[in-house]
Amino acid sequence: MTLRVAVVGSGPAGSSAAEILAKAGIETYLFERKLDNAKPCGGAIPLCMVSEFDLPPQIIDRQVRKMKMISPSNREVDINLIKEDEYIGMCRREVLDGFLRDRAASLGANLINATVHKLDIPTNNTDPYTIHYVDHSEGGATGIAKTLKVDAIIGADGANSRIAKEIDAGDYNYAIAFQERIRLPEDKMAYYNNLAEMYVGDDVSTDFYAWVFPKYDHVAVGTGTMQVNKASIKQLQAGIRARAARKLAGGQIIKVEAHPIPEHP
Ligand SMILES: Cc1cc2nc3c(=O)[nH]c(=O)nc-3n(C[C@H](O)[C@H](O)[C@H](O)COP(=O)(O)OP(=O)(O)OC[C@H]3O[C@@H](n4cnc5c(N)ncnc54)[C@H](O)[C@@H]3O)c2cc1C
Repeated sequence: MTLRVAVVGSGPAGSSAAEILAKAGIETYLFERKLDNAKPCGGAIPLCMVSEFDLPPQIIDRQVRKMKMISPSNREVDINLIKEDEYIGMCRREVLDGFLRDRAASLGANLINATVHKLDIPTNNTDPYTIHYVDHSEGGATGIAKTLKVDAIIGADGANSRIAKEIDAGDYNYAIAFQERIRLPEDKMAYYNNLAEMYVGDDVSTDFYAWVFPKYDHVAVGTGTMQVNKASIKQLQAGIRARAARKLAGGQIIKVEAHPIPEHP
């Protein structure tokens, strides 16, 4: 009998796992509750990820070769990549995640637009797991309750993981991220053409950094902090908006995103 594996969550972790499973001929089910999900993470990817994840060039909005690190007192350190073939890739997470998910599906993973809410865990080594989920693929407001039996489950459902709770995996840390996508006037956008900025200081994050990263036709301005400080996230976002105010003047907010993001297990 073919091994049946469910992967819950189709962020980069889940879709990559599903792709590997599908390629190996395993009957793979990839669950994602929100197909247009966009994580408010900075979306900057190191060069090694491009080859490791075999990403085509169209996934990368901009190849940035200048990074400005800005201190609490606004001292600036410029980091310039001097080798022609080196860059920091700037992605939109909705594009990256969508690509990885679709690739897993095209290689044979069964993509299910559904929220997994409960597991029945077998009491022996031979019985399958039963996954209880609400299928959203029909588009209705409430969805349709369904079940699926599988031999193994990979929980890749991010911070607040339902799978981690169901298997009693214990506490783990997460960060909260907040990001505004801002369309800038042409002259202001030109400044960020080949430049990403990272800001540090307690006004923008007590334990992380804040960023202005250029995307396809706008900039992403955001910050993050660990869960203990999550009540201050809007204040920290106001901090980065204030620090970068001159460069963002005249910008129009086109999207606001906030979400918990898993930290180290
Ligand atoms: C402030 C901040 C900035 C960051 N910036 C960067 C950066 O610039 N570059 C970088 O490479 N990394 C960055 N990261 C890290 C990066 O965001 C995470 O490592 C990454 O998102 C983790 O991917 P994942 O697939 O494990 O989880 P996630 O991306 O969280 O994906 C989980 C998926 O599971 C789905 N899901 C959840 N529950 C269910 C359920 N019950 N049923 C079905 N589906 C479900 C969700 O909809 C989601 O699509 C940043 C993190 C933070 C906190």
